[in-house]
Amino acid sequence: MTTANPLTPRQERVLSGMRPTGALHLGHYHGALKNWVRLQDQHECYYFVADWHALTTHYESREVIEKNVFEMVIDWLAAGLDPEKCTMFLQSRLPEHAELFTLLAMGTPIGWLERVPTYKDQQEKLKDKDLSTYGFLGYPLLQAADILIYRAKWVPVGEDQASHVELTREAARRFNHLYGREPDFDDRVAANLAALGKDSAKRLEKSRKAFQETGDQKAFEGAMGFLATAPALQPRDRERLEGWFRGTGKAVLVEPQALLTEASKLPGLDGAKMSKSYGNAIAIREDAASITQKVKRMPTDPARVKRTDPGDPDKCPVWQFHQVYSDAATKAWVQQGCRSAGIGCLDCKQPVIDGILREQQPMLARAEPYIAQPKVVRDIVDAGTDRARSTARETMREVRDAMGLNY
Ligand code: ATP
Ligand code: MG
Repeated sequence: MTTANPLTPRQERVLSGMRPTGALHLGHYHGALKNWVRLQDQHECYYFVADWHALTTHYESREVIEKNVFEMVIDWLAAGLDPEKCTMFLQSRLPEHAELFTLLAMGTPIGWLERVPTYKDQQEKLKDKDLSTYGFLGYPLLQAADILIYRAKWVPVGEDQASHVELTREAARRFNHLYGREPDFDDRVAANLAALGKDSAKRLEKSRKAFQETGDQKAFEGAMGFLATAPALQPRDRERLEGWFRGTGKAVLVEPQALLTEASKLPGLDGAKMSKSYGNAIAIREDAASITQKVKRMPTDPARVKRTDPGDPDKCPVWQFHQVYSDAATKAWVQQGCRSAGIGCLDCKQPVIDGILREQQPMLARAEPYIAQPKVVRDIVDAGTDRARSTARETMREVRDAMGLNY
């Protein structure tokens, strides 16, 4: 089992997680997981089972989480994640996440968390749960720690998570502002500049002056381009010089960016956001008969009471599924047929059913060997957790250094 990370730190990292609170559904797949699969070929990717996050809403039902941790990893493998290409790990095995969360919490205003839209939103929607807890309020900050500890640049998530990534950026900026100036910052900058050679150092000093005094954007871009490719610099040295150039100090933590898919908010059977807690979801490995039933029972445009009433696709949740599953010809057929009452709602639903089942076929096939050998799934998570740990520890060393916690 290897703990060394086979990929170079220069590649932009990707991080994302999912909560093991039930079987993954089409919203997870089209909103995020599809992007995860795509990214594993281009980036160093970390994907984690967010079991602590699951506890924020399921602290009274640990059995749900227990049951779904490895099931969810099987869903990921079914969707096409490849353990040779990405790192899959379990959040609760890495106390480093909790450590960074605690350290970030010290300087994070409570108002930042109260203003995150999902906070009030989820409390409203999940009325049967008491979510007036410290853990639930803090959960976006824990998420910030999850992301920042891998110094990830990209976070592939659904639209509902975008505000959490924004908070993460703020937390990183604040941390860098408070602690990014290493005690020996000036000496280190001088050493890094010396390594670049006299001429380059002079040019950089000149464009830094132009940038800081007049906001010269060209000077900025030129310098960033130069630093990004200078072979004499290690990644951390490059970041220090970037911070020196900007006048902000070293970026200990990296500001990430959300990465959305086209279907970044997939609706469920009733037209509201697909969610297991709203009972409007189709699981990615659900059996064919159940999928067929569910789609057949989907409500359609309420104005289409009789087969002969014309309808409006814009008012029908089935149309949203066509957007994801149908080609241009089928979509034109739906538009024309619905508005003219030329086709019935069941006719219209059939291509959606076919589309979901077709998409599911390779996933079921990929899941099969893992279902047969649960030990293999555990080994994948063990190996991934070891890899993640070595990266997380590296960042924590720097964080403690920056905060002066090395007495
Ligand atoms: P559920 O709402 O079904 O309980 P969840 O919100 O608990 O699921 P998370 O682990 O929070 O699941 O979400 C995992 C990822 O899937 C996140 O990136 C989230 O944005 C995305 N996601 C969840 N539901 C949808 C959806 N309906 N459309 C698009 N993306 C979604
Ligand atoms: Mg969610």
